[in-house]
Amino acid sequence: MRNLGNELISGRFFNSSINDYNIFLSHLHLDHINGLPFFSPVHFPTARLNFYSHHKDFEKMLELQQDFNFFPVSLKSRPSSKKFNILKEDEVVSIGNFTVSSKKLNHPNGSYAFSVESSGKKVVYATDAEYTAGTVLEAFFPFYSGSDILIFDTQYDFNELAGRFSFGHSTAEIGVDAAVNSDVKKLLLFHHNHESDDEKIYRMYDSAIKYMNYKYPSASVEIIIANEGMEFDL
Ligand SMILES: [Zn+2]
Ligand SMILES: [Zn+2]
Repeated sequence: MRNLGNELISGRFFNSSINDYNIFLSHLHLDHINGLPFFSPVHFPTARLNFYSHHKDFEKMLELQQDFNFFPVSLKSRPSSKKFNILKEDEVVSIGNFTVSSKKLNHPNGSYAFSVESSGKKVVYATDAEYTAGTVLEAFFPFYSGSDILIFDTQYDFNELAGRFSFGHSTAEIGVDAAVNSDVKKLLLFHHNHESDDEKIYRMYDSAIKYMNYKYPSASVEIIIANEGMEFDL
């Protein structure tokens, strides 16, 4: 969020006529909101920040993150205007040419996948999520269906997953099952475990490719390791 904010106010993506920033939050775990106090547009009086979340108390929670005990300036005190939109289950939001829909994922305290569609293109962001007998992967195929990019939780390898039942995360191989069966073009291995070094992440990537070649020999999903700052033309 910090890098994105800097790009939006001064980098290649800067456009002086853009003042609206629409921010969809999957959930409020720290690894997903920590960058918000450093999101540069929040400091500009002309900026309008529109937050969207399914979590009913999310305004309070975001303020709490910037309580004086944790951070010197409150979110409320920043000059930008802020609007907090609480999403209903299955609510579809239209913003300009973009349509955003959501689906609840299995994760401690809940997380939501978002699908962003525009001009026949579709990107799905689906983290943090665990697939179990109660929340089977197949139930998500319609939501992931036909994505140009599926950003998928691949935090663990199978050994780690086995020891971390109910932690709310998934593997690269499960991502392959989701991508192939949902006719996805690019699968982004996302949400790397903080304990995984580059070598480990590449091993998981190799394992995902071997798994796809073995189980789905005719599949052609492009598997990509997510990096900060990645960009895709659709
Ligand atoms: Zn989480
Ligand atoms: Zn997370």
